[in-house]
Parts: sequence; structure tokens; C-alpha cells
Amino acid sequence: MKHREYDVIVIGAGFGGPVAAKKCADAGLRTLMLERSENPGEKVISGLTIPIYGFLFGPAFIRDGNPPIERPVDGIRNYVIYDVKSGDIEVVELRIPRPLSPIIAFGYNAYCKPFCAWEAEQAVKAGTELLTSITAVDVIKNNGHIEGIVTERGKEIRSRIVINCEGSQGILAIKAGVRDKYPPRTISLADTYDYECPKEIIDRVFGHSLRFCWGFDEQKIAPPLGHGNGLMAWPYKNSIHWMQDQCLALDDGQVPNLRRLFDEYHENITTQLPWWRDEIAPGVRLRARMWEGFGIYVGLDDKLRNMPNYTDGMILAGDVAGLESTGLCDGVPTAWFSADIAADTAVEAIKANDTSAAFLERYNRRIRAHGIIQWAITCNGRWNLRRAQESHDRKDLKRRINYQFGPGILTHVGTPLVNSILNAIRMDPLVLKKWARMFLRYYYNWENDCASPTGLAEDHKKKTNLNLDLIILDALVILFSPVNWILAWLLGPLSGAVNPLIKFFLPVIEIALRAGIKMEPLFKPLSRWTIDYVKQVDPAALISGSSE
Ligand SMILES: Cc1cc2nc3c(=O)[nH]c(=O)nc-3n(C[C@H](O)[C@H](O)[C@H](O)COP(=O)(O)OP(=O)(O)OC[C@H]3O[C@@H](n4cnc5c(N)ncnc54)[C@H](O)[C@@H]3O)c2cc1C
Repeated sequence: MKHREYDVIVIGAGFGGPVAAKKCADAGLRTLMLERSENPGEKVISGLTIPIYGFLFGPAFIRDGNPPIERPVDGIRNYVIYDVKSGDIEVVELRIPRPLSPIIAFGYNAYCKPFCAWEAEQAVKAGTELLTSITAVDVIKNNGHIEGIVTERGKEIRSRIVINCEGSQGILAIKAGVRDKYPPRTISLADTYDYECPKEIIDRVFGHSLRFCWGFDEQKIAPPLGHGNGLMAWPYKNSIHWMQDQCLALDDGQVPNLRRLFDEYHENITTQLPWWRDEIAPGVRLRARMWEGFGIYVGLDDKLRNMPNYTDGMILAGDVAGLESTGLCDGVPTAWFSADIAADTAVEAIKANDTSAAFLERYNRRIRAHGIIQWAITCNGRWNLRRAQESHDRKDLKRRINYQFGPGILTHVGTPLVNSILNAIRMDPLVLKKWARMFLRYYYNWENDCASPTGLAEDHKKKTNLNLDLIILDALVILFSPVNWILAWLLGPLSGAVNPLIKFFLPVIEIALRAGIKMEPLFKPLSRWTIDYVKQVDPAALISGSSE
């Protein structure tokens, strides 16, 4: 057998790859990460929203660390567009009311490039070797067992196992014979427009909400490529992105002129949607747009969903394993979870000196047992929303939007979330302390407009020392942790009842949420106080564990 230069080769330094690489390097494995772009995270010009469940239940180094985040997100404002010209538009809103919002965030907007670069940096610090501008074009196979990869320059690099995080195109996975090419209907085509916009305008118009627009095809909101359409506006620190996306259905073999359609439809919405036309358009400048549609895997294909995610010597994680959310199109959390599990499995396999498919089967079992991954890939809400767009039924469209991106989402995300929370407490009863610090730290960064609180630590320590509050918080968590742990065990079997219960109480929950938002002016002093508190807290104390 030829000499193996590495224990593990990780393909791709997108969202998932660095998570796997860091864990393997932490475990003392000789780890190489290959990235075909010049820099990690270069795949899209724009950014995205990383939902909160990724941060809560994902890799500890991201939760406890200090990744570059653009803006906390406190909710979604959906515009149900029946007639854009006459202004026949309804609003469905899901938002965390103040004073909790957006300190307790729904998610965080981030740019891919700095975020993935930060992740890759953590992997490199742990001992990973990172090579960029190198594409793996084939695998080395020995009696069907993968023993490394071949680069585009023909160089062979050997390893004991390959963790494949190459994203939605999955060329290497196809070469390895594990996956099929994604058929067009499983790809949602996305196009992005990136606008510079002063922060004051974004704060005033968006606050911390995302804005989604939904309409029927004749409204020309997004190109009619087959299965409905969606148009999302993401606010960042000093910029706004529009993303149009829809699933393809090119059954008649006709390929539309996407470039023309994207432009035409984008102009339609930006010149006619009142809040954009009147409040945003005068103050923005188009900085960039993607020159072609971007495919996002939305996993609507049963065959693909049931294909294996491993073979002899290789494990697939993230998009290439088909783990992007069918429901929300959120792929970052599942990329993080699966890459983390892939690394655990690789470490065990190398320890056992067995990287056969039979051993790696445990990876498949683990990801399929993961509450959030399972929910993310099987939820059909977004697909049903597309069907409602096709049916031209106003009532159904509004109902589906409410169910998918309004308060109704609680009726299907409740159980997996509660399950994951209970599981996290069972594994580590002190996790509540880490979550609290994470929320405070990310909000601190936002309020102080900084990415690294450690840089400001000394300065702030002189002004104020609020460590005492955090010590009290820690003490409370420690005091109640045995109770929490027992409760988490006892409540575990009941978590299946959460979705039906929320469904039953949804009308009451909706009224409570609306009332909470209406009562926000009453909470203004409390909100102000909380913001001032977070702004002044000693940032070093917000790094998890620093007061331990
Ligand atoms: C426009 C757009 C908007 C999105 N919005 C959201 C959102 O709001 N929220 C969300 O959670 N998800 C969103 N997603 C999905 C999310 O980006 C993916 O699910 C996530 O990035 C998957 O992570 P990954 O590590 O599997 O793959 P990726 O992040 O795609 O990383 C794969 C990496 O591998 C590299 N690579 C590929 N092949 C090779 C090779 N042969 N050799 C070397 N390197 C290779 C690529 O260059 C890339 O850097 C969006 C996707 C797109 C395209």
C-alpha cells in the first residue's frame, strides 16, 4: 500500500468543510483541506441568513467563538402580492417582539466570504493544512476503496479517509459513484442583486426583519421557471440584497433567457413595490449582481434523498449529501451538523483502523437520527407554497405563507427544536450559560459595530466591570442545572406532542405575538436599558468560559 500523506482530506472550505477539518485536526489527525477557489467561501457574491438553530446546536467553536456577523435577524415580513400595480398586497409577519428582539435573534445575516474564511482560520489554527486554488477532479480507488484524490494538475494526494464537503454540484461524489447528478427540479435557481445602502435607511425601513415577497406568476416578481417563485430582500450592515429564486421545471425542453428575465422581473418589483420605490430606491446604488443563476439544492427527489452518504473511504456532508433544507432552503446549519458528525465518525474509523463502508454506515444512521436534519430534509412546506402559487388561490397562498414563513412555522418546527434543546441540556446542563453569552456577545458586536470584542476588552474593562452579573447568571445556571437536566430527561418523550399542541393553540399564539409587537412602545425603557447594558458589558467576559 502506498504511503498516506494525510489521515484526512477534506474537500471544500465552504460552510461545512472547515467544521470537519477543525474537529479532525483537534483530534490530532493529519488533516488537509482543499478549496478550488482562491479564498474560502467565494461561491456567492452575497450573503445569507444563518438560522439560530445552527448556532444553538452546531459546532461549539462557532457558538462560543466570534464569527463575522452582519446583522441580527428578529423575524420575517412577508408581502403577499396579489396585484403589485394596484398595491393589493397583504402582510404576514413573524417576529420576536421587543424587548427580547433582536438580542434573542432568529438568526444572523452573514456574508459567505468572511464567515467561511473565519471558519477556515479556526481549522488552520487547530493544525489543518489549507490549500486554495486547487480542485480535486477525481478519487484514487483501490479495489473500490477510496484512498485519496487527484487534483486538476494530476497530482495524487493520499489519505486514510476523505470527507467530502464540495457543495451542491457534487462532481467528486459522482466520480466516486456515491451520488447521481441532481435533476433540474431539485434545483432552485437563484439570482442576487447587491445594493449599497446607508445603515440609517436599512434600520428605519427593515429594522432587523427580512422581507420576503410572494406572488402569482403574472405579477412578474420572479421568472416563471416552473414551480412558483420567491423574492427575498436581506438587510446587511450597509447593504441590501435581493434574491429571486424558483425551482426549475423545463419539461418541454425550452431553456428561457434567464439573464433577460431576471433583469426584467427585478425591475418590475423594484419600481412598483411601494416601500422599495419610495423609501429605499432613492438612497441605494447597485454594486454587483450575479452574472448567472445559482443552483440551490432543495431536495425534492426521493431517489436522491435515499442515496447513501458514504462509501468505502469517503463520507459526504452538507449540500453534496443532499442535506439542504427542503422546507426553508437553509443549508448552513445542516452542513455544520453533518460535517461535525462526519468528523466524529472519521476519528472513530481511523482509531479502529477501519474506513470501510460497513464501519461508516454509523454516519448515515447518526445524521438520519438528528432531529433538525431530519426535519429540514423532509419538510414539504416550501414545496406546498409553490403549489399554492400555481393554483392561484389567494386564501391558500396566504395560508401556506403563514405556515411556512409566518407564525404557522411553529407548528412544524416546534418538536425538532424542543427535542434538540432538551438533548443539548442532557448532554451539557451548563449549555444555557453558553447560549446566553452567545446571544449577548453577538448583540454586543452588532451594537458596537465590531467583529472582535477581544480587541476592545481592555478599554471597556476600565470603564465598567459587569462581570458580576455574569457570575450571578452562571451561578443560577449551575444551581438549577440538576433540575434542568432531570426535566430534560423527563420531558424528552413528550416533545412529540409540541407540534400538535402549538397547532391547537396557534390562534392564541398569533394574537399574543401581535399584542407583543403592539405593546413595544411600553417596553421602550426596558429595551433601552438592555441595549445600554449589552453595549457596556466587558466583552472579554462574553467569551464563553472566560469567567470559569
Ligand atoms: C444564493 C444562495 C443563497 C443561500 N441562502 C441561504 C440562507 O439564507 N441560509 C442558509 O442556511 N443557506 C443558504 N444557502 C445554502 C447554503 O449556502 C449551503 O447549504 C451551504 O453553503 C452548504 O455548505 P457546504 O459546506 O455543503 O457547501 P458550500 O458552502 O457550497 O462549500 C463547498 C466548497 O467546496 C468547494 N469545492 C467544490 N468542489 C470542489 C473540488 N472538487 N475541489 C476543491 N474544492 C471544491 C467550493 O468552492 C466551495 O467553497 C444559500 C445558497 C445560495 C447559493
